Amino acid sequence: MTPTVAPATDQQPRATLGILGGGQLAQMLALAALPLGVRVKVLEPDPYAPARLCADHLHAPYTDPAGLEELTKCDAVTLEFENVPVEALDTLRGRVPVRPGAALLERSKHRAREKLALREAGAQTAAFVVIESAPELQGALRAVGGRGILKTSELGYDGKGQARVASDFELGQAWEALGSVPCVLEGFVEFGREVSLAVARAPSGQVAFGPLVENVHRDGILRTSVYPANVPDGTEAQARNIARAVAENWKLEGLLTLEFFLLPGGPDQQPQLLVNEVAPRVHNSGHLTQDSGGLSQFEAQVRAVLGLPLSDWRPLHPCAMVNYVGVEEVAPDWAGIDALEGTRIHLYHKAFRKGRKLGHVNLIAPDGATLRKRLSQLEALIP
Ligand code: AMP
Repeated sequence: MTPTVAPATDQQPRATLGILGGGQLAQMLALAALPLGVRVKVLEPDPYAPARLCADHLHAPYTDPAGLEELTKCDAVTLEFENVPVEALDTLRGRVPVRPGAALLERSKHRAREKLALREAGAQTAAFVVIESAPELQGALRAVGGRGILKTSELGYDGKGQARVASDFELGQAWEALGSVPCVLEGFVEFGREVSLAVARAPSGQVAFGPLVENVHRDGILRTSVYPANVPDGTEAQARNIARAVAENWKLEGLLTLEFFLLPGGPDQQPQLLVNEVAPRVHNSGHLTQDSGGLSQFEAQVRAVLGLPLSDWRPLHPCAMVNYVGVEEVAPDWAGIDALEGTRIHLYHKAFRKGRKLGHVNLIAPDGATLRKRLSQLEALIP
């Protein structure tokens, strides 16, 4: 008997989601959306964009009228990067819900505006001075404590567009080297640890949280994330309170990730969380939720943006992530990674470039001690 194959059906998707951007975050959002019955369209000029492999690829600039017209046919539009051109948002306004919306994006793509808005929402940040012209350099370093990091207000990511400074002379040089563009000078924070937490807010106002994750950076780029974070009791509750305040104050619709510096508390002092940065979307530090047994950050963003039922996304066991960033001449030991128990490989199908994020490996373990042991083995396999 010839085996029969079920005929393809022409079922309607449950919903269609548009995404501005087609990189690895859009790829993983689409991979989370498909099992929910949700189809995805990405607007992305790169012909080799990672998301083209699992979504309809509208291959055009972000401001392309025909591409944007296609997105207006979706149930909602979200994004995978914050620097969406204002023209694109203007074209979509009033024709399809864009989540998060334009006002929130205007804040989160501009460091100075973001920090001011964080403080308005009651969150604490490092000391900072906004520098938009040369006279503002005067006295700025003293005002932030004598040592700082100068960061461009716009278009900085993964440690790019930043310089450490410890004298007025260095500050002047750094500002010129960054192109004398508007910047924020932040005081240097002697943090104990770096942690992050994501919050999702549905259009109904319902709020849900991701796990508190501990992050280690290398050369300004995330190297590892670990859950649970090794932090004092009460830190996660404190991070959630801050995240809720920001989500509600900023009227978030969608998902937002906060990166924090954790300052160790004294004998009768609570540890203190300062918000370093906010990303209005899923974040590299949340990738470990893909294999953690619970809802993933990607499914959480899809659900929040489409107004589907939403709950906290909490790993069911200890887990970690190691980023695979392009390093010349040395490739990860894939056979070794495959052979290591608890690993899950995620590749983005991007061309190799030095310093480029090309994939990540998630790791799960039944307990914290096993996780730590496996994590040091895994790190040795990924240059
Ligand atoms: P960012 O691009 O702002 O996330 O910075 C990248 C990394 O640089 C952070 O994750 C920290 O490890 C470090 N960093 C950024 N700002 C500061 C600061 N004000 N004080 C100390 N370290 C910082």
